[in-house]
Amino acid sequence: MTTSSAMASNSASATNLLPDLKKFWGYDSFRPLQAEAIDCVLNRHDSVTVLPTGAGKSLCFQLPALQFSGVGVVVSPLISLMKDQVDALVGAGISAAALNSSMPESEKRDVEHRIKNGQLRLLYVAPERLNTAATLQMLKENDVSFFAIDEAHCISSWGHDFRPDYRALGKLKEQFPGVALHAFTATATPKVREDIAVQLNLKDCQTLVGSFDRENLVYRVSQRSNLLTQLRTVIDRYPKQAGIIYCISRKEVESVSETLNSIGYRTRPYHAGLSSEQRIENQDAFINEETDIVVATVAFGMGIDKSNVRYVIHAGMPKSLEAYQQESGRAGRDGLQSECLMLYSGGDFMAWKRMLAPNNPAAASLLEAMLKYCSQPQCRHKALVEYFGQAFEKENCGACDVCNGELNTVDDPLVLCQKIISCVFRVDQRFGANHVADVLTGSKNQQITKFKHDQVSTYNLLGDLSKKTVRNYIDQLVGQGFLATAGGQYPTLNITDQGRQVLRGETTPVLFEAPAAAQKSSGQTDDWEGVDRDLFELLRTLRLTIANENSVPAYTVFHDPTLRDLSRQRPSKLEAMSQISGVGEKKLATFGERFVSAITEYCNENDVAMDQPAVTRIKNPPVSSARGLSKVGVMKKAFSLFEQGASIEDVAAQIDRARSTTSGYLSSYISEHNVTDPSPWVDANVIPKIRAAAEKVGSLERLAPIKEIVGDEVSYEQLRPVIDCLKVETK
Ligand code: ADP
Ligand code: MG
Ligand code: ZN
Repeated sequence: MTTSSAMASNSASATNLLPDLKKFWGYDSFRPLQAEAIDCVLNRHDSVTVLPTGAGKSLCFQLPALQFSGVGVVVSPLISLMKDQVDALVGAGISAAALNSSMPESEKRDVEHRIKNGQLRLLYVAPERLNTAATLQMLKENDVSFFAIDEAHCISSWGHDFRPDYRALGKLKEQFPGVALHAFTATATPKVREDIAVQLNLKDCQTLVGSFDRENLVYRVSQRSNLLTQLRTVIDRYPKQAGIIYCISRKEVESVSETLNSIGYRTRPYHAGLSSEQRIENQDAFINEETDIVVATVAFGMGIDKSNVRYVIHAGMPKSLEAYQQESGRAGRDGLQSECLMLYSGGDFMAWKRMLAPNNPAAASLLEAMLKYCSQPQCRHKALVEYFGQAFEKENCGACDVCNGELNTVDDPLVLCQKIISCVFRVDQRFGANHVADVLTGSKNQQITKFKHDQVSTYNLLGDLSKKTVRNYIDQLVGQGFLATAGGQYPTLNITDQGRQVLRGETTPVLFEAPAAAQKSSGQTDDWEGVDRDLFELLRTLRLTIANENSVPAYTVFHDPTLRDLSRQRPSKLEAMSQISGVGEKKLATFGERFVSAITEYCNENDVAMDQPAVTRIKNPPVSSARGLSKVGVMKKAFSLFEQGASIEDVAAQIDRARSTTSGYLSSYISEHNVTDPSPWVDANVIPKIRAAAEKVGSLERLAPIKEIVGDEVSYEQLRPVIDCLKVETK
């Protein structure tokens, strides 16, 4: 496979857990950075792991928890989320439980009892529960293996989800000296990341940052024109599958949900104006597949771990790219191709600006970045990844409207842009986009006559275009920085330096025709290759039946990729079914027979061949799949730099990867090229110390005992290459 397994192999301790990964989860290999994060947990080394949604953060603490005799405590912000994770763990045969205030006393006592007897591997608690004197005391009396802080950005007031209850977690280090803390988040900003380590008082913490690119998501942005048609274009690509539609206002949520319902789609609304019972009911209906679509305000989504959301549509522009990344990121957690469409208008931008930005320059700059994302002619993946401070290497992502050539550009836009910008000049840079569009299209409204703008030279200069089109071009010019908006209540347009260059003909903006041309459904078929769709539907129903019998969410039975593999390979025997990714031992024992007999019956009746070969490409995990290719390139580059003796730091900078990743590449380099001399990467004076320590331990399999001897002055980054070279020597 790709580098994920290569990285795992240099990390001896995580590699030892591969049999458990197969046994309990049914997976064959680690995804990027999972092995590293697991190593930290095993070695009781404080860590912060930043990976995008769907990358598999839970596994980083769940799998190593099985290796400890004590209980791993997981702090998670929402009770519903904890419940689903516990259900999934128990379903896989792992002893896990949650403690929360809504539980009956007897159940709580039972959980405490299992902790005392060392029977429980994972305990989920909400922060407010953990912070009670009783819970802290109970944990102190027992053996705590580690604390895992999920959604750790909630501790930072710089984040978008600050929760005061998380603050008290800062005391854990003091209260449980010697117990390691591991923080997990998908929040990409370095500021939040650093704040997490500070707030939690982490010691010498290892920071692991993955790529933020969500390769399995197809991004599209379009001007909002006919909302219903635009929504249906996407929804109809995913019949009977799950999707989320975000609207800005409650009113819009209600009307969109009702309209879609009235024409036969199964939708439920969700917003803060509904009673909490109604909200819970609608959310559960979504999780349990009783409804396909949730139409919601941004109040919806936190704590929704549903893995098979096939699309997320924004009916209006979000207030920041941070928010967009978070919300759109709820699509495709299972790694299958999914789609994110944003419908925006310049009006959304102005509305947000009035609401948030008048006295708040930070909010204003977030909004501007958002508008820029909508209107600049650049790959959406690249724009998002670069916004979060990472490099993007692919020339063509193949998964966005820009790269797929779905957007038509205006031919010869220079003169058109000059007309628009000079109109802004003619009205003295004192009017907004709406008014400028009115002037350009020759409107006769009161405002125009009042200011005598029907007499300026640019009046009716674009009379052959609709006002909407012109307004759209103006928004694009704002988004690309040729025009700027100023003022609070009634923002006015003014011309930037870049805009003046356009007037002088020194630079030419790219303008998209609005709205976007018909959207091809790029690559949607890949993940379906070889899948018998009718069988897939049948197995989905079976999954739902089983889920209902056990009162658990459907995806805790099997995730969609597993159902697709089952409908693709169509195993006739339990043995064959056990080979499929996502089928662990417990699940095989509990549901295996039912799935195999449903498949057999279907195939016999429909004369469909069984026991087909696996399609390996499909089984690639999301973060490494297409990226695998470019990664090979990156690794090659790293190898040639190592060959020249470049330091880890230098190589990390040149290949634009985290030091931890680079250090992993070095391990692969050393073992693949049989390197025995670690001196280019390690201080000469510590090498003998490390060698002596390794000698004393007598085994090179685990780094932790060696690290214990050499102590804090030698980092893992220094330790690892020496041990890797020793391994080569003793091969
Ligand atoms: P995150 O918390 O990072 O958003 P999750 O922990 O919810 O992600 O995992 C997302 C999905 O990826 C889950 O369906 C999980 O079972 C799956 N997954 C995790 N690790 C692996 C792996 N090594 N191989 C295959 N699937 C995995
Ligand atoms: Mg998670
Ligand atoms: Zn692209």
